[in-house]
Amino acid sequence: MREKIVAGNWKMNLSENEAISLVQTISLNKVEGVTQIVFPPFIYLTTLLKLNSQVFIGAQNFYPKDKGAFTGEVSITQLKNIGVTHVLVGHSERRTLFSESNEFLKEKVDAALNAGIKVVFCCGEPLEIRQENTHESFVSKQLEESLFHLTSEQLKDIVIAYEPIWAIGTGLTASSEQAEAMHASIRKSLTNKYGAVSADAISILYGGSCNPTNAHELFSCNNVDGGLIGGASLKADEFHAISTAY
Ligand code: PEP
Repeated sequence: MREKIVAGNWKMNLSENEAISLVQTISLNKVEGVTQIVFPPFIYLTTLLKLNSQVFIGAQNFYPKDKGAFTGEVSITQLKNIGVTHVLVGHSERRTLFSESNEFLKEKVDAALNAGIKVVFCCGEPLEIRQENTHESFVSKQLEESLFHLTSEQLKDIVIAYEPIWAIGTGLTASSEQAEAMHASIRKSLTNKYGAVSADAISILYGGSCNPTNAHELFSCNNVDGGLIGGASLKADEFHAISTAY
């Protein structure tokens, strides 16, 4: 049985009070059998970790050097030190707005795993690649270049989030057929590289305008193990409804 995960990427949203209240409400209504993670802005991490809630607290970003002259950056060791358990790596906004390449993401993956932090690794194609019908090889290359140097032991600390870029924040969702086809293709790449036992153990989340209305259909797909949620994760009732949509 693969781990069921619903994770909320808060991006650059919410006030401190709103962040505290959201974690407290999610925690109070904890959904059994589902790992719930939130990724708040950096400045709230310590406060939220001190709530000792039922929710895992992850970081949206970090810089993959241990320490030094990197003004404005935060290291994975610093995140580990305050109790962060998960990090996002490869989100399309980091890839496009901050030019993070597959090679740089590989460095981030290594830094996180070496620090004992779990990685939610995001991948996904832009619209033109989907229209060219080369999306499966596009995503496969993202995985190969940033993840496939790992051992099967290290792979156990990776969760993959498939997020078609054309569906992020647009209100357009991949159909359950499109999501399942891509998730199956990702699992096939993992199987080819690591064998069926390792590949079958990895949770693959769907992300891209997932909401309480479409979550059940998406989560019912064989290879969809949960969701990475943006907009709908900012509202406690929607995040809860998605977490119960299996
Ligand atoms: C995301 O940015 O990871 C995401 C899935 O956003 P949204 O749910 O708002 O499309």
